[in-house]
Amino acid sequence: MRILLVEDNARLSDAVTESLYKAGFEVDAVTEGEEALSAAAGQVYDAVILDLGLPDIGGLSVLGALRDRKNTVPVLILTARDTLSDKIAGLNGGADDYMVKPFEVDELIARVKVLIRRQAGTAGTVIRINNLSFDTIKRLAQIGEETLALSRRELDLLEQLIHAAHKVVTKKSIEQRVYSYGETGSANSIEVLVHRLRKKLAEHAADIEIHTLKGIGYMMTGTDGNAAKK
Ligand code: CA
Repeated sequence: MRILLVEDNARLSDAVTESLYKAGFEVDAVTEGEEALSAAAGQVYDAVILDLGLPDIGGLSVLGALRDRKNTVPVLILTARDTLSDKIAGLNGGADDYMVKPFEVDELIARVKVLIRRQAGTAGTVIRINNLSFDTIKRLAQIGEETLALSRRELDLLEQLIHAAHKVVTKKSIEQRVYSYGETGSANSIEVLVHRLRKKLAEHAADIEIHTLKGIGYMMTGTDGNAAKK
């Protein structure tokens, strides 16, 4: 899962980035509104954390521009402005949640996870397909009672595929979420990653298939092809 963090206070930005990274997120941190808009135009994000007071265009303008562009990414506003009118303006402007500084970073992470689950249409915190379950809070994948030992990137991949079960996830979108800013994998690294994940699923006799759609991407389903996501 990849987050865009828009915050001009360097110390706060570093602290939030580190906590998000430890919680399993890839983070792109920017300090200005225009920078945020160009990042959001070029990348797929799972959520945006947006400060209101920015050095160039304000956070509310960034939010307005995102929604004008039909970008439906969940946005959590993070700001020192705690007046009611700012809150209302943020929510009316298309924000999904609102936190006032100072805040607890654990609460911020919990709220971001809620937004991502809501966006994915997953009501519960555990997603199941056949014998595979994925706990979105603990980021834990299990086959029956056995926990899969997955690398950070394998877990990122599984998380994306299971959130989008029965839908195609493009290779580009996987690349964007698995690698951090500036970091790129080799040409076939996604294929290698998918191969490793398939192997681990097979070792645990998962009733799961990861289909390759040549030139497009990948899709996760149950082996029977039509087991519904619960
Ligand atoms: Ca600020």
